Amino acid sequence: MKIIIILFLILLTTSTQEAFAQFYYDEINHRLTQNPVVCTLEFSDSSLPQANQILVDEAKLAVKDWEKKLVDHTGNPQDWAMDFRVITIDDQQRFLDDAFCDIIIRFEREPPTEDGFEYVGYTDLYPSGLSDITIFYLEIVYVYEEKLIDGELWNIPVPSQYVNSIDPHVGETLRHELGHSMGLAHIPPDSKNSGWDYDSEGIPVGRSIMIEDFEEFPPEGYFEIRPYDIQAVIGWYGDDGFSDPYSFLWDSLAGILVFGGIAAIVIYFTRRRKKERV
Ligand SMILES: [Zn+2]
Repeated sequence: MKIIIILFLILLTTSTQEAFAQFYYDEINHRLTQNPVVCTLEFSDSSLPQANQILVDEAKLAVKDWEKKLVDHTGNPQDWAMDFRVITIDDQQRFLDDAFCDIIIRFEREPPTEDGFEYVGYTDLYPSGLSDITIFYLEIVYVYEEKLIDGELWNIPVPSQYVNSIDPHVGETLRHELGHSMGLAHIPPDSKNSGWDYDSEGIPVGRSIMIEDFEEFPPEGYFEIRPYDIQAVIGWYGDDGFSDPYSFLWDSLAGILVFGGIAAIVIYFTRRRKKERV
């Protein structure tokens, strides 16, 4: 009997590891329950009238970037389909009341004054799999301070004030928050996977879109959805994507049953042989 338990334990571990092997982040245990409808809420900003159109377009680019990179990796467009909708001001109450949207993206100029420059966006996650993203879109002006990191001198950007224009990094913030809405947490800052690589022009690019602490990031650097992030989402949902978000459980269960069956046969024959020897 001991053998069975040990074998099952080993098999359980291997199949679970397989399901989660590519989930490199702190777990937040949030999961979309279907191919998401992503709703971007239109708004009006009288001091920056072009903001609505620019940001709605940016939101669409961010959603389509995630979708394309996921599809490129597994080759299954319908499994990763994300339905992008723009909700007019007049329609918003009706759509929100009907819980029509899986992911809501809303835009605000800046965080509450008492929070200072603490964040450029945040995502509220609900147990039902729904989520609500808020993006603060005003551009922050930074002053640079020299700081020694690992023996190298870096110019570290320190936020100093908002200006009445759109944050040039808003697309990165949108991709980052969408990562949360799919269930990705932050990469721990001390993990070997944090930090940055360099693109073909030698400009630093974050190794993941899910790096939280931008403080040590070189000022000319940028973030994008990297293979690392794509692997993490696929690891979290399985190859069938958002269309079958619990497929990884079936994979694990099938693995346990198949290997459990083999184990049972092996044990049966071992015991029979023992009996014959007696
Ligand atoms: Zn974050």
